[in-house]
Amino acid sequence: MLDTDQVLGPHTTALIGVDGGRYPAGNSVLVRGDRATAIIDPSTSLRLRDDLADLAPVDMVVLTHAHEDHLAGVHLFPGASVHIHEHDVQGARSIDGLMEMYGMSPEAERSFREIIVRDFSYVPRADATGFADGEVIDLGGVTITPVHLPGHTRGHTGMLIEPDGVFVTGDIDLSAFGPYYGDEWSSLDDFERSLARAREIDARWYVTFHHKGVIDGRDAYLEAIDAFTAVIAHREENMVAFADEPRSIEDFVAHRFVYRPHVTLPFVDTVELRSARMSIERLVARGRLAEVQPGRWQAAPA
Ligand SMILES: [Zn+2]
Repeated sequence: MLDTDQVLGPHTTALIGVDGGRYPAGNSVLVRGDRATAIIDPSTSLRLRDDLADLAPVDMVVLTHAHEDHLAGVHLFPGASVHIHEHDVQGARSIDGLMEMYGMSPEAERSFREIIVRDFSYVPRADATGFADGEVIDLGGVTITPVHLPGHTRGHTGMLIEPDGVFVTGDIDLSAFGPYYGDEWSSLDDFERSLARAREIDARWYVTFHHKGVIDGRDAYLEAIDAFTAVIAHREENMVAFADEPRSIEDFVAHRFVYRPHVTLPFVDTVELRSARMSIERLVARGRLAEVQPGRWQAAPA
């Protein structure tokens, strides 16, 4: 055990990652049953531990979704079976399958492939198996119930661990950055529905992969998820305010409503473009923006 490990119940321990689980690190969760032990979302930080073998022989790797940082410790458990929602299983099975989910530009994809292998130790697991919403994983005396929460990716899933009363929220990470829905496999509408579903989950502890880490109790969770959800409306209100004159999609992308101006990651423009497109469509449907010229949108008069 490290002093950053947090025991959350008789079967469940949160393995808080380096720097509190800030990307590229993350927080993993170990669940020990009578018959089997599972690790949820093995992060880069597990590579730094020399006590892994002492924690428990890990029989199963359970993933909230297929993203590089959540898959980063899969290679440490070559003998374990790998389980992920059926919609994301291709990302665990091959790097091509994973790259298709991001949908990056060719230049961004070239550099990101290298990063995934070099910095995130990606290993394909052709034998990874897909589960569906609610398909209980029984470890003996403790169960993991997948709660499908798409939006971040199509297969993104929270994990409810019972009887310990722990809900693992994956990349509903409750950060100040807010929801990320900028991949090819993301959907803003799905994300909003998933936030509503995640909000209903009653647990003693909530564990996010980044940022917040372990949240103690339902009141703190509700406060955090409501603030996280509000970021979407905040971004969209900013877009409406920006459209005080006709704006093209390029204008929205250049202005940035998701990332801050100083961020120079190779995929920022693609993410801004996808996010802006989804929000423009929603704002038009709600009568907040109007396409006043072909390809130019302006705030509708109140
Ligand atoms: Zn993710």
